[in-house]
Amino acid sequence: MAETMHCYRHPKRETRVSCATCGRPICTECMMATDVGIKCPDDARLPRGARAGVMKTNQVIRSILAGLGVAIAGIPIAYVLFFLPLTWLISAAAGYGAGTLINRAGGRNGGPLAIVISVLATAVPFLVLLAPDLLAGALNPRPLIAMVLAVIAAGVANRRI
Ligand SMILES: [Zn+2]
Ligand SMILES: [Zn+2]
Repeated sequence: MAETMHCYRHPKRETRVSCATCGRPICTECMMATDVGIKCPDDARLPRGARAGVMKTNQVIRSILAGLGVAIAGIPIAYVLFFLPLTWLISAAAGYGAGTLINRAGGRNGGPLAIVISVLATAVPFLVLLAPDLLAGALNPRPLIAMVLAVIAAGVANRRI
Protein backbone atom coordinates (compact mmCIF):
# COMPACT_ATOMS: atom_id res chain seq x y z
CA MET A 1 0.00 0.00 0.00
CA ALA A 2 1.18 3.47 -0.76
CA GLU A 3 2.40 5.61 2.04
CA THR A 4 -0.36 7.63 3.62
CA MET A 5 -0.17 11.30 2.84
CA HIS A 6 -2.13 14.24 4.10
CA CYS A 7 -3.78 16.89 1.97
CA TYR A 8 -1.61 20.00 2.01
CA ARG A 9 -4.70 22.13 2.43
CA HIS A 10 -6.29 19.88 5.02
CA PRO A 11 -3.46 18.44 7.11
CA LYS A 12 -5.82 16.15 8.98
CA ARG A 13 -7.24 14.43 5.90
CA GLU A 14 -5.50 11.36 4.58
CA THR A 15 -5.14 10.88 0.86
CA ARG A 16 -3.27 8.80 -1.70
CA VAL A 17 -3.67 11.29 -4.54
CA SER A 18 -1.11 13.92 -5.38
CA CYS A 19 -0.97 16.84 -7.78
CA ALA A 20 0.47 16.03 -11.21
CA THR A 21 2.32 19.34 -11.34
CA CYS A 22 3.73 20.05 -7.90
CA GLY A 23 3.40 16.59 -6.33
CA ARG A 24 1.75 17.83 -3.18
CA PRO A 25 -0.78 15.42 -1.70
CA ILE A 26 -4.32 16.51 -2.26
CA CYS A 27 -7.60 15.17 -0.86
CA THR A 28 -10.58 14.17 -3.01
CA GLU A 29 -12.44 17.33 -2.11
CA CYS A 30 -9.61 19.65 -3.20
CA MET A 31 -8.43 17.78 -6.26
CA MET A 32 -9.29 19.06 -9.70
CA ALA A 33 -9.43 16.81 -12.75
CA THR A 34 -7.66 18.34 -15.76
CA ASP A 35 -6.70 16.91 -19.17
CA VAL A 36 -3.23 16.27 -17.84
CA GLY A 37 -4.24 14.54 -14.62
CA ILE A 38 -5.30 15.40 -11.13
CA LYS A 39 -4.07 18.73 -9.89
CA CYS A 40 -4.22 20.88 -6.82
CA PRO A 41 -6.41 24.01 -7.07
CA ASP A 42 -3.33 26.25 -7.36
CA ASP A 43 -1.98 24.46 -10.41
CA ALA A 44 -5.33 23.70 -12.01
CA ARG A 45 -6.00 27.42 -12.15
CA LEU A 46 -2.72 28.29 -13.83
CA PRO A 47 -2.21 27.63 -17.51
CA ARG A 48 0.64 25.33 -18.34
CA GLY A 49 4.02 27.00 -18.16
CA ALA A 50 2.74 29.86 -16.06
CA ARG A 51 4.78 28.77 -13.06
CA ALA A 52 8.03 28.78 -14.98
CA GLY A 53 9.28 32.16 -15.99
CA VAL A 54 7.80 34.00 -13.05
CA MET A 55 10.81 35.65 -11.52
CA LYS A 56 10.98 36.52 -7.87
CA THR A 57 11.88 40.10 -6.99
CA ASN A 58 15.47 39.26 -6.11
CA GLN A 59 15.86 37.43 -9.42
CA VAL A 60 14.50 40.44 -11.29
CA ILE A 61 17.00 42.68 -9.47
CA ARG A 62 19.86 40.30 -10.24
CA SER A 63 18.82 40.14 -13.89
CA ILE A 64 18.82 43.93 -14.13
CA LEU A 65 22.24 44.14 -12.42
CA ALA A 66 23.60 41.48 -14.77
CA GLY A 67 22.12 43.45 -17.66
CA LEU A 68 23.87 46.64 -16.49
CA GLY A 69 27.13 44.72 -16.15
CA VAL A 70 26.74 43.34 -19.67
CA ALA A 71 25.94 46.79 -21.05
CA ILE A 72 29.04 48.35 -19.46
CA ALA A 73 31.43 45.45 -20.12
CA GLY A 74 30.05 45.17 -23.64
CA ILE A 75 31.23 48.64 -24.72
CA PRO A 76 34.96 47.77 -25.00
CA ILE A 77 34.04 44.31 -26.34
CA ALA A 78 31.87 45.78 -29.08
CA TYR A 79 34.60 48.33 -29.84
CA VAL A 80 37.20 45.58 -30.39
CA LEU A 81 34.66 43.46 -32.24
CA PHE A 82 34.49 45.85 -35.15
CA PHE A 83 38.20 45.38 -35.84
CA LEU A 84 38.08 41.60 -35.76
CA PRO A 85 37.36 39.20 -38.57
CA LEU A 86 34.08 37.27 -38.31
CA THR A 87 32.48 40.22 -36.53
CA TRP A 88 28.97 38.90 -37.06
CA LEU A 89 29.75 35.44 -35.78
CA ILE A 90 31.51 36.77 -32.71
CA SER A 91 28.68 39.26 -32.11
CA ALA A 92 26.10 36.49 -32.13
CA ALA A 93 28.23 34.38 -29.78
CA ALA A 94 28.81 37.35 -27.45
CA GLY A 95 25.10 38.16 -27.49
CA TYR A 96 24.23 34.58 -26.66
CA GLY A 97 26.79 34.59 -23.85
CA ALA A 98 25.36 37.84 -22.48
CA GLY A 99 21.83 36.47 -22.66
CA THR A 100 22.88 33.27 -20.88
CA LEU A 101 24.55 35.27 -18.14
CA ILE A 102 21.40 37.32 -17.56
CA ASN A 103 19.28 34.16 -17.72
CA ARG A 104 21.38 32.55 -14.98
CA ALA A 105 21.28 35.70 -12.86
CA GLY A 106 17.49 35.49 -13.02
CA GLY A 107 17.40 31.92 -11.77
CA ARG A 108 17.19 30.47 -15.30
CA ASN A 109 13.57 31.43 -15.62
CA GLY A 110 13.89 33.11 -18.96
CA GLY A 111 10.68 34.61 -20.24
CA PRO A 112 9.69 38.03 -21.55
CA LEU A 113 11.36 40.14 -18.86
CA ALA A 114 14.69 38.32 -19.17
CA ILE A 115 14.48 38.73 -22.93
CA VAL A 116 13.83 42.46 -22.66
CA ILE A 117 16.74 42.94 -20.23
CA SER A 118 19.06 40.86 -22.41
CA VAL A 119 18.08 42.64 -25.60
CA LEU A 120 18.55 46.09 -24.06
CA ALA A 121 21.83 45.13 -22.36
CA THR A 122 23.20 43.74 -25.61
CA ALA A 123 22.03 46.65 -27.73
CA VAL A 124 23.47 49.37 -25.45
CA PRO A 125 27.19 48.83 -26.21
CA PHE A 126 26.49 48.85 -29.94
CA LEU A 127 24.31 51.93 -29.72
CA VAL A 128 26.96 53.76 -27.72
CA LEU A 129 29.53 53.03 -30.42
CA LEU A 130 27.17 53.67 -33.29
CA ALA A 131 25.72 56.88 -31.88
CA PRO A 132 28.24 59.22 -33.57
CA ASP A 133 27.56 57.56 -36.93
CA LEU A 134 23.82 57.58 -36.33
CA LEU A 135 23.89 61.27 -35.49
CA ALA A 136 26.01 62.00 -38.52
CA GLY A 137 23.53 60.08 -40.63
CA ALA A 138 26.34 57.96 -42.05
CA LEU A 139 25.59 54.53 -40.79
CA ASN A 140 27.65 51.59 -41.87
CA PRO A 141 25.40 48.52 -42.20
CA ARG A 142 28.13 46.16 -40.98
CA PRO A 143 28.02 47.09 -37.27
CA LEU A 144 24.26 47.38 -37.45
CA ILE A 145 23.93 43.79 -38.62
CA ALA A 146 26.36 42.74 -35.87
CA MET A 147 24.11 44.45 -33.34
CA VAL A 148 20.98 42.79 -34.67
CA LEU A 149 22.63 39.36 -34.55
CA ALA A 150 23.88 39.92 -30.99
CA VAL A 151 20.46 41.11 -29.85
CA ILE A 152 18.66 38.15 -31.42
CA ALA A 153 21.15 35.70 -29.88
CA ALA A 154 20.67 37.33 -26.47
CA GLY A 155 16.92 36.93 -26.80
CA VAL A 156 17.22 33.33 -27.95
CA ALA A 157 19.33 32.50 -24.89
CA ASN A 158 16.34 33.47 -22.75
CA ARG A 159 13.62 31.65 -24.61
CA ARG A 160 11.50 29.44 -22.45
CA ILE A 161 12.07 25.81 -23.21
ZN1 LIG B 1 -0.09 21.37 -7.49
ZN1 LIG C 1 -7.98 19.04 0.91
